[in-house]
Amino acid sequence: MTVFSDLMAFQRETEALGQIAGRLGWDQETMMPDGAAEQRGEEMAAIENVLHARRTDPRVGAWLEKAEAPDAAGARSLELIRRTFGRNAAIPARLASEIARVTSVAQGTWAEARARDDVAHFLPTLERVVSLVREKGQALAAAGFGGGDPYDALLDDYEPGATAGGIVAMFDRMRPRLVALRAAVLGAADQPKPLSGEFDHARQLGLSRDLATAFGYDWTRGRVDLAVHPFSSGSGNDVRITTRVVEAEPFNCFYSTIHETGHATYEQGIDPAYLFTPLGQGVSMGVHESQSRIYENQLGRSRAFTGWLYARMRAIFGDFGIGSAEDFYRTVNRVQSGFIRTEADEVHYNLHIMMRFDLERALFGGKLEVADLEDAWNTRFATDFGVAVDKPSNGMLQDVHWSVGLFGYFPTYALGNVYAGCLMRALRDAIPDLDASLARGEAQPATDWLREKVQRFGGLYAPAEVIERACGFAPSEEPLLDYLEAKFRGIYGL
Ligand code: ZN
Repeated sequence: MTVFSDLMAFQRETEALGQIAGRLGWDQETMMPDGAAEQRGEEMAAIENVLHARRTDPRVGAWLEKAEAPDAAGARSLELIRRTFGRNAAIPARLASEIARVTSVAQGTWAEARARDDVAHFLPTLERVVSLVREKGQALAAAGFGGGDPYDALLDDYEPGATAGGIVAMFDRMRPRLVALRAAVLGAADQPKPLSGEFDHARQLGLSRDLATAFGYDWTRGRVDLAVHPFSSGSGNDVRITTRVVEAEPFNCFYSTIHETGHATYEQGIDPAYLFTPLGQGVSMGVHESQSRIYENQLGRSRAFTGWLYARMRAIFGDFGIGSAEDFYRTVNRVQSGFIRTEADEVHYNLHIMMRFDLERALFGGKLEVADLEDAWNTRFATDFGVAVDKPSNGMLQDVHWSVGLFGYFPTYALGNVYAGCLMRALRDAIPDLDASLARGEAQPATDWLREKVQRFGGLYAPAEVIERACGFAPSEEPLLDYLEAKFRGIYGL
């Protein structure tokens, strides 16, 4: 055995254990009996300890010094193992276990605070989390990650290569156009009708399965279950999705399913040769989100596809008070100022992200104290959305991310939208009659193109690189903004 194959054999087992940990997490959110929560906590902690020990194993360091890759995929695998090893080595063991301990409790405290609309209950915990994650960012920066900048070093974990500076510049270009579009749309005389009525639970689930199929989900290597907050889980030949059903809100079920199908087909579409290697998973949060978003929005909320969905819904649910496919398209894409990020339409979504990004950078840059976060949130929200936050669960307590120490994560959602905009431009050029198949409820040609251009590469290329190779141009916000303006000006008759 060469040093390289020793390392890859060791890594293979680490990756397999990582998949097992993920499946425990899936079980916890879907199947696990309530009474098992504490026991599961200990089981998860045990496997996380094993994973941490393997990722920081001194043998990995020794192998990395001597290993020689046989090919480009091997070289990229070494690069990714080296990165993970370096990041873990840079964080003192004491700090890593303190972060794990504090954030596991913090998530519960956040949930209590959100349920009671009690910011004060959460603030001491959030102070502790921010201070620990700040320390982590500094430790990573000191080891050279994020170009020596603590926030960039955190961001680098979710979107390697991205920097706060680059995102600030991009958001500065996006914000005026989004704000103007939002104002024009909300001021339009002819507003789309909201959906009303009740839609049977089982029938919603049935149609959501058809939607996953339409987008190319491989049921022989996946399954769908219910979860409170839909997610997808797993890689390779076991990639599961979840959805939720609210009888009065069928779009929630359908578009959650399409979104998670996007994440899942990415994982299912990765070259099987990469399974159990560092290349065997989606390369970054941003690229992952580009797949879920292009499925959900650019394709799933297109005029062509909603025409098919309208006919299917009429066949399944009967008349639900919307008289034409065109009206249905407008209803699906109805723009509304709302408090909740996860329920935001395409026009508002990135404004939610920009706000979180600015606030968390202010927290990390020492320009904002945790105690002042609620005020800062509410002031900014009123400015950007034109509505006063009515309660903390509709404001700064709505997202779980900060409680579990995910700082530097939010901007990857906006990057995903931007990448999706780029991919859609390239996809339309590549398949001029795309709408004809979407109108028949067939998204397979789009999935085939995305598989060929993005999904199969897994972790082989860096995030911005895989998008650029797919599109033939460097990623920018321009295609997304052009798409949004054309679409919503059309829908609102502007
Ligand atoms: Zn997603």
